[in-house]
Amino acid sequence: MEDCIFCKIINNEIPSNKIYEDDLVLAFLDINPMSKGHALIIPKKHFNDVFDIEDNYLERIMLVAKKISKKMKDGIGADGVNFYHASGIHAEQSVFHFHLHVVPRRKDDAICFECAVMSKPGISEEELKELVAKLKIEG
Ligand code: 5GP
Ligand code: ZN
Repeated sequence: MEDCIFCKIINNEIPSNKIYEDDLVLAFLDINPMSKGHALIIPKKHFNDVFDIEDNYLERIMLVAKKISKKMKDGIGADGVNFYHASGIHAEQSVFHFHLHVVPRRKDDAICFECAVMSKPGISEEELKELVAKLKIEG
């Protein structure tokens, strides 16, 4: 897609530090990392977000996330990882080509993903039941 920075990375029009590539996905280091080794995994076809990505791309992204996580643990001394993803402007997505962040974590790093869920919204029992009813998907 024209004017998409990640499509330009896929097409080698702009440089990136690639760590994995196959027929469906590409992974490279984030230019503004939350921690050393912070990687992004993207589909090689342009999708905006989780709402339009095709399942085969999403499946592959998750499998590659597992491979990269293991490499972070064995190769660069991470003792854990966080997967992070944003879909939508109000979810703080800033690049509108689907991507999964894989953030290596180490003891005593200064990152706090848990901090983001500290302020919990007050929800009544009634609202809770309504939410469950509206979100329920039959498996
Ligand atoms: P979002 O805010 O959409 O969840 O994440 C977008 C990510 O893309 C950010 O972490 C940002 O640092 C990264 N990013 C933006 N432009 C570039 C770029 O040109 N190269 C690389 N490697 N990462 C980028
Ligand atoms: Zn794109």
